[in-house]
Amino acid sequence: MLKIILTVAVIAAVYFFLIKKPAVKKSRKERAEAEAKKPGLDEEIMLECEKCGTFVSSKEAIIVDGKYFCTKSCAGVK
Ligand SMILES: [Zn+2]
Repeated sequence: MLKIILTVAVIAAVYFFLIKKPAVKKSRKERAEAEAKKPGLDEEIMLECEKCGTFVSSKEAIIVDGKYFCTKSCAGVK
């Protein structure tokens, strides 16, 4: 009985070891994709204006207190 448990444990360990590598790779890829979704300097994404709901590109958006606005008038700055 103990031998069976040990065999199963070894198989599970080997299986886990083989599975672990691509899983780490995948999580890194997902992390990279998550990073890419963040408003970056190089990547242009569409952001919704906090005030009027107009979509504006991340390059043109005005950021005030971590909120995005389409125009300076929406952002409340002159
Ligand atoms: Zn606006």
